Amino acid sequence: MDELSSISEILLNSIQDKMSTPSIFNLWFNEFRLASLTDDQAVFTTPSSIKKNILSTKYQKLIGEILEETIGFPLEVSIVTEEEFKSPVKKSEEKPDATIPAPYFEPKEKKKDDDEDEEKLITESISSPNGKRTILDDYTFENFVEGSSNKLAKAACYAVANDPNTYNPLFIYGNSGLGKTHLLYAVINYMKKHHEGIKIVYKKCESFLDELIKAIRDGSTTEFKEKYRSCDVLLIDDIQFLAGKEMTQEEFFHTFSALYEAEKQIILTSDRPPMQIKPLEERLRTRFESGLLADVQPPSFELRLAIIKQKADAMGLTVSNDLVEYMAERLQNNIRQIEGVLKRIYAVHSLTSAEVTKEKIDEVISIIDPGNIPTDALIEKILSVVSKAYSVPAEQMKSKKRTDNVTNARHVAIYLIKQHTELTLKEIGAIFGRDHSTVVFSIDKVEKSIKTVNNYEAEINRLNKEIKG
Ligand code: ADP
Ligand code: MG
Repeated sequence: MDELSSISEILLNSIQDKMSTPSIFNLWFNEFRLASLTDDQAVFTTPSSIKKNILSTKYQKLIGEILEETIGFPLEVSIVTEEEFKSPVKKSEEKPDATIPAPYFEPKEKKKDDDEDEEKLITESISSPNGKRTILDDYTFENFVEGSSNKLAKAACYAVANDPNTYNPLFIYGNSGLGKTHLLYAVINYMKKHHEGIKIVYKKCESFLDELIKAIRDGSTTEFKEKYRSCDVLLIDDIQFLAGKEMTQEEFFHTFSALYEAEKQIILTSDRPPMQIKPLEERLRTRFESGLLADVQPPSFELRLAIIKQKADAMGLTVSNDLVEYMAERLQNNIRQIEGVLKRIYAVHSLTSAEVTKEKIDEVISIIDPGNIPTDALIEKILSVVSKAYSVPAEQMKSKKRTDNVTNARHVAIYLIKQHTELTLKEIGAIFGRDHSTVVFSIDKVEKSIKTVNNYEAEINRLNKEIKG
């Protein structure tokens, strides 16, 4: 994957985020690529002239806006067909840049070539890697950074990759962006290397559903069954999509049972534990729970640091330790987001060689995660919300003043800051010129009032809403 594809991918992901209907996105943006980039123009290609016309008339503005958001400055956007781009007249627009460092490759949830990869897995055994890199190669056990939040899941995957059928089925669950798909791909990579000829089938649950529906429509269910029941290892990603799909559950149950009885390894991932997939046939739930359940949790601060360092290194992106820590503080819940932020920074950095600054990081985070406010700004906001609610200026909350009204506002502000930030008691105390025991006292006071004072809880909830809104 080269520099342009890497920027292309960021763009497409952003465009996809902005469009509400996936099928419409696919219709026009499937095979839409950034073909060249100069300091004043970006040229995109699409296969047909019909697509070119629609894209130019309906989507050019959006593309321009998102491009600017991504690289930090406006560019003229032109859209041509692949044919036109290849013709010698257009050649001059190309500006290959040999000095650009090797791009970092971010695997994504919705890759255009996923299906291709899936198909390859089914037909391709270890003997035919033909030297071509695929998206899969980028997810390995080696580059999966381990911490207490994902240790069990990783160990289980590794055990199964070494010795299929150790735990069967292996069911990995946890919120989005925490490394489940990465682990599945790592298993595939590992197995392809270590178990010659092993037949692996990987499917996202949604495309399993699509395929089944298509098979029924085309009267090719025998082939469908054959394909899924003849593999050695079956990996289904995001199995929660089976919820409520009765017919598919039925078919999946039979596939599952056939493989299970033949002692073939099954690995499933889900964004929630089997118990919470609803509605799901009881016999499937029992099957899912019968092997090993392993969860992935949000990463600790240390794990976030390690991940940022590893990813920045892999991109050849230099970020000072302070800023690595700053990012780790701000990006708490989702490793995909961490990666998205680094990729965007990389895209700008590699084009302009601009230094990575705190401001740049803030800007990129505000695009990728708009609800994520820097701690300083959040504290300001909490103080101003509380100040307004109790008619007590923030300076008074920070002062020594002890009238009832001021004291209460101070308690509430302290309580809310504790709730909304990761600051330590000592750090919170420092905002108010007090030590940590005051903070403990305030929090305690508010918690008691919530339990005993009428409407107190409702008031706190209202403030919480205002802070978040
Ligand atoms: P999920 O499938 O749980 O939604 P993914 O496996 O797609 O999440 O992970 C999102 C991104 O974060 C991927 O690019 C993946 O490589 C990266 N990632 C997640 N966990 C780790 C980890 N522990 N070490 C390195 N990268 C990780
Ligand atoms: Mg996933």
